[in-house]
Formats: sequence, C-alpha cells, structure tokens
Amino acid sequence: MTLKVACPNCKKEVVWQPENTFRPFCSKRCQLIDLGEWADENHKISQSIQGEGVISEEMLDALEDEFLQHNKFFVEPE
Ligand SMILES: [Zn+2]
Repeated sequence: MTLKVACPNCKKEVVWQPENTFRPFCSKRCQLIDLGEWADENHKISQSIQGEGVISEEMLDALEDEFLQHNKFFVEPE
C-alpha cells in the first residue's frame, strides 16, 4: 500500500516514501516556505532554524513526528 499525503503548503499529493526527503512536502520549496512560516510564529524549533540556515536530520525527524501526530493531512487511499 502506498501512503499518500497532501503537501501542507500547496496541497499537492505526495507519496510518503523514504526517497522523498521533503515529505510531507512535495518539494524543498514548500518545506522551506512552511519552515519560514513556523519561524515567524516562533515555533518551538524555530530557534534551531534561525542562525544556521540548514535543516538537520533531527529537525526533519521532529517535523515528521509532529506531522504524524497531526495526521489530518493524510489522504485516504483510493
Ligand atoms: Zn507543495
């Protein structure tokens, strides 16, 4: 079964697979846009974003965990 999610930024359908390093986003662009919005809202992980300009594995894991906890974006398989 292939799990698909809707990109939180542009709502485009994204296949959830390890090769897709930008999941749940469709692209790096959407990921960065979303991270930027979080930073603006003083999101809890924004401090590690600011100043470095690099998205670490740890941050991606945190994003993924958060996403899975708020799985309202998941799209039901056809
Ligand atoms: Zn997108």
